[in-house]
Amino acid sequence: FVRIEHAQKSFGKLEVLKDISLTVERGQIVAIIGPSGSGKSTLLRAINDLDALTGGEIWLDGVQVNKTLPHRQYEKHINEMRQQIGMVFQHFNLFPHLTVRENVTMAPMLLKDLSKAEANKLAEEQLDHVGMLERIDYYPSQLSGGQKQRVAIARALAMKPKLMLFDEATSALDPELVDEVNQVMKKLAEDHMTMIIVTHEMDFAAAVCDRVLFMDQGVVVEEGPPEVVFKNPVKDRTREFLRKHI
Ligand code: ATP
Ligand code: MG
Repeated sequence: FVRIEHAQKSFGKLEVLKDISLTVERGQIVAIIGPSGSGKSTLLRAINDLDALTGGEIWLDGVQVNKTLPHRQYEKHINEMRQQIGMVFQHFNLFPHLTVRENVTMAPMLLKDLSKAEANKLAEEQLDHVGMLERIDYYPSQLSGGQKQRVAIARALAMKPKLMLFDEATSALDPELVDEVNQVMKKLAEDHMTMIIVTHEMDFAAAVCDRVLFMDQGVVVEEGPPEVVFKNPVKDRTREFLRKHI
């Protein structure tokens, strides 16, 4: 469903991704763990071509995301692809001057030509799903970090994405707010949303993921089911990393 083939990415002389291949089946949940600077965010950003690869291919549902096209056509193509990929970052990127409702309805109205009434209905559904319906007319500044992050998830879901990417969605949150966001992600997992989750939370990864990928210095060192990677890692580097992080 998602296929990353021989992904390679350099920033100047610095090779950040070195021949990474990864397949995620529809409905599968993959966690990516690894030390700071190992390339996790770069890989995630490459999936919707926010960070263009210097080599390799990204495929989503049978369509190549990073295909070579003349500029105009590429812009149209990539916008269509990005609409199918929801992304939630560490720092909530809600528009501060818009209410929760406006944040969630904007993209569906703009990009999917939904009427205001249709977009409102959709926003209400999605906000209900993340437990934020009662705050629909609040501004982001009136919300806690966990609430903002739940709105960010609802906003991504309102585009009905085929794939959700999470880049340390909870790591900027106060510890007591982490769980409410994790619960929303767990619920998505139960609904069989295809997800790739970069996280430092090993317990959460172990609980929700079908597969764990350990990255270090731009390569996938080890991958497998969480019970293997977390409990019986094969590689020394994985073991060492986990010793420091569990
Ligand atoms: P963290 O756990 O700290 O978020 P990460 O695994 O997400 O780390 P990346 O953000 O993917 O790591 O960065 C991988 C490497 O690429 C780092 O050495 C970083 O300095 C470098 N890098 C990332 N973005 C750029 C850029 N735009 N220009 C130059 N170097 C970059
Ligand atoms: Mg990162």
